[in-house]
Amino acid sequence: MPKLYLPDLLCAGGITNAGSGLLVDDEGKVLGVATAESVSGSGPPAEIVRLAGKALLPGLANAHSHTFQRLFRGRAEGRAQGGDTFWTWREQMYRAAGFVSPDDLYNVARATFLEMLASGITVVGEFHYLHNDPSGRPYADPNTLAHQVIRAAESVGMRICLLRAAYQRAGFQREPHPGQRRFYESTEDYLRNLEALLSATGGHARVTVGAAPHSIRAVPLTGFKQIAAFAQQRELPLHMHISEQPAENDACVAEYGRTPVALVAENGILTPRTTLVHAIHLTWTEFEQVAAAGSTICSCPTTERNLGDGIFPADVAARLGIPVAQGTDSQAQIDMLEDARQNEYHLRLQKRERGILDQLNSEDIAARLFDSATLAGYRALGIEGGSLAVGEPADFFTADLDDLAILGVDRASLVAQAVFALGRSAIRDVAVAGRLVIENGVHVQGSEIRSRYRAVQKRFAHGEGQ
Ligand SMILES: [Zn+2]
Repeated sequence: MPKLYLPDLLCAGGITNAGSGLLVDDEGKVLGVATAESVSGSGPPAEIVRLAGKALLPGLANAHSHTFQRLFRGRAEGRAQGGDTFWTWREQMYRAAGFVSPDDLYNVARATFLEMLASGITVVGEFHYLHNDPSGRPYADPNTLAHQVIRAAESVGMRICLLRAAYQRAGFQREPHPGQRRFYESTEDYLRNLEALLSATGGHARVTVGAAPHSIRAVPLTGFKQIAAFAQQRELPLHMHISEQPAENDACVAEYGRTPVALVAENGILTPRTTLVHAIHLTWTEFEQVAAAGSTICSCPTTERNLGDGIFPADVAARLGIPVAQGTDSQAQIDMLEDARQNEYHLRLQKRERGILDQLNSEDIAARLFDSATLAGYRALGIEGGSLAVGEPADFFTADLDDLAILGVDRASLVAQAVFALGRSAIRDVAVAGRLVIENGVHVQGSEIRSRYRAVQKRFAHGEGQ
């Protein structure tokens, strides 16, 4: 029987209503917006799930995540000897990448995905580049670690697009890096393993797979083109890191005589299914190339500010009509709405003005930022959803209207207050495909997930591997 989720305020299909509920079919898809009277009267019956004192909003989409990086949160904030402050972070990243066993990865991913769910995220694009065993050899099943991450998402009830990442070298004219030995695969092995992962996950609801050449630094152009062609042929999402830091642009110019975006543009790699992660250090012409191709940019401001990457020119992207999704990336912090609002706030600090993203292409600032945390992320992951329109998956979260951050919110101000003030403490329920996976702040596996995570974290802190 269909369910009618009946909150005090409902944001669905871009419209906020009071007194209506979200009607969801048995498959977990949105049938429409309806009232309690309409389903208890002469119309088709539905089970009413009352969400009194709550607002119901579309689930947030985390379009870029590396789940294992949760393990060194707060441990890479200092200044390394020698002055390269980015190195502190990279060293910890290599240590975490070298540390995790398949079971550890599963346990870390479950806790990270639980944190995402608890912050209203209903789908994750996991950009996954851990493939080999700690010695650098493939596992008997080379997709062992990818499957662990997928299992983790399935176990907590989160939707996942596993973006299987190719990683082949430390960079132009650089020796292989021992910290990267779990990442490396040849193009042929990568494509074979991607194909196998596609077949193995074919029957899994709420699991999809995409292709992700890590970056033009880590995958030379020949392999990059082969992977892009495979993705194109299979109509898979294609994600890549690009122009996160100026040094990456310089290395690409040294190797190919052009910047990364110019290079992928002229090689036909930019399509509507392409998502460029970061895309901070681009010229106007490069942004125009991205816009012309209909590609998405995934901005990760909480990570970019943590790493000191620079400020994403979200105003340029908005002017050119480029869809902008959001990602938690390094898990420095998991708060999709904070990512969305930082796209505006970073520009305010830079330009010493307010309302930078308001009314660009006639779009309201709050609607724009909320769409980037929802719709644009679903789109980047190749999943139709993100607004609770009819036919979309019923992926949503509820916020407590008694929470002090949004106390007094009304129909007209719900989206703006969510974007500019909502914190995790207000989030009460989370549903994926119409099924509540968090109810009144509680996930049924919450304590087990926490205790397993603590055990892994403790071993990592004490320097024990495997
Ligand atoms: Zn990343």
